[in-house]
Amino acid sequence: MRYDTVVGLEVHIQLNTATKAFCGDALSFGEKANTHVSAISLAHPGTLPVVNKNQIDKAIQLGLALNCKINEYNFFDRKHYFYPDLPKGYQITQDNEPICIGGHLEISVNGRSKKVKIHHIHMEEDAGKTIHDQHKSLSLVDLNRAGTPLLELVTEPDLSSSEEVYQFIAELQKLLRYIDVSDADMEKGSMRCDCNVSVKPAGSTTLGERCEIKNLNSKRFAKEAVEYEAKRQIEMIENGISFSKQTLHYNVEQKKTQALREKEGAEDYRYFPDPDLAPIKISSEHVDSLKEQMPKLPWVLKAELVERHQLKSEHADVLTQDPDFGNYFFELNHVLQAPQLVSNFIINQLLPTISSLDINISQLEISNEQVVQYLDLIKANKISSSIASQRLWPSLLENKQRSPLELAQELELIINDDDDFVQTLIDSVISENPAQVAQYKRGKKNVIGFFVGAIMRKSKGAINPKTIQSKLIEALNN
Ligand code: ADP
Ligand code: MG
Repeated sequence: MRYDTVVGLEVHIQLNTATKAFCGDALSFGEKANTHVSAISLAHPGTLPVVNKNQIDKAIQLGLALNCKINEYNFFDRKHYFYPDLPKGYQITQDNEPICIGGHLEISVNGRSKKVKIHHIHMEEDAGKTIHDQHKSLSLVDLNRAGTPLLELVTEPDLSSSEEVYQFIAELQKLLRYIDVSDADMEKGSMRCDCNVSVKPAGSTTLGERCEIKNLNSKRFAKEAVEYEAKRQIEMIENGISFSKQTLHYNVEQKKTQALREKEGAEDYRYFPDPDLAPIKISSEHVDSLKEQMPKLPWVLKAELVERHQLKSEHADVLTQDPDFGNYFFELNHVLQAPQLVSNFIINQLLPTISSLDINISQLEISNEQVVQYLDLIKANKISSSIASQRLWPSLLENKQRSPLELAQELELIINDDDDFVQTLIDSVISENPAQVAQYKRGKKNVIGFFVGAIMRKSKGAINPKTIQSKLIEALNN
């Protein structure tokens, strides 16, 4: 029998606000344990939470970008559970009335695009960290993360392959960075993903029993885990083994999903509205003003690059990978008005360079003026693009303060189409190779290539091969 894979995601997104969700403690990462913990983070009796307006605004902005309906009337609920890194004994979250409802995110897999439906996005707070590997007999608690504002985005069970899961996470990550809502860095835990996976007979409209793989911290692991889990479920079904809803963990070393605990029902959490936090009404004027402040979204930018600047779709994909890339493209292209040249440069030279140096564009220490001058040499046919990338660019990287034009002159890379210069080279190559001249005269026309190569070598790449041909043939025929 053939099976369909069905996946729904629950993605936790740490917001990049300055302070925590319900108190003034600064957000921190990798700092000394328990240095950002006020009495509120510690849940001392009598302390009261205060809503962070930035959390609400960032939630609305994400909702607007995903075409969600923004809930006008919002309140927070308490979700109770016991955990050593949750001092209050409950998490502040939103249960029945999430801030964003519906919406979709478009992804593209193998050239086919698909709108993945979103169920809702709600606001909540992160717990602290329990650390088990720093002491031989004790577990340690760090509350720096406790109270970090989170959004939880829940999709419909709308994804149908591990590749779609990978693409969804990648697209969401990109969007979050564009609209400055989160750094979405999964390695740091700023974004974590639970994958709900089930399988069903191909084409069936009834969903199968699902398992939930918790807390995946990379796109690749999410992809691997979904693939493994779907296979595992199919095998069980084929062998007549029934299974019930389970919470799983993905073991990245063994590349296997493993049982974590039986899944709790919602009733265990005893949700109720948090009486310490007043309801929040979001006006349509406020939503409109956030809409106006919204930066250009990655897919809008991509369409612009393809339609207005005539770039290939795959190139536009690379340039919209990171807001920095697109900005850089526009800065250079504004001066050069040569989208293809600028795009080729960014994709084939700049990105490999910054990735091998492990830096970002702003750390390159080569100014836009220098890059414009460098590209202008290619645009004006003063240097061939292959010589530029093989010789001038590496030289510029070693001499970051120098002018590309001066460097090109010193290295004798400037194309010299001066007639006398070209003629001298042709004459000397002809007189040095009488055997090949004789071959040519006997009718072996493809020795032309040999002569062009020899002339180019003599010129050290400093002439344009296209200008040689006619002069060369003329000289050979004499
Ligand atoms: P819970 O409250 O138990 O976590 P939800 O109904 O809120 O369950 O769904 C959580 C996630 O599981 C959603 O992303 C949803 O799309 C997904 N999901 C629900 N049913 C299935 C299923 N049969 N197969 C795969 N994913 C599912
Ligand atoms: Mg859930």
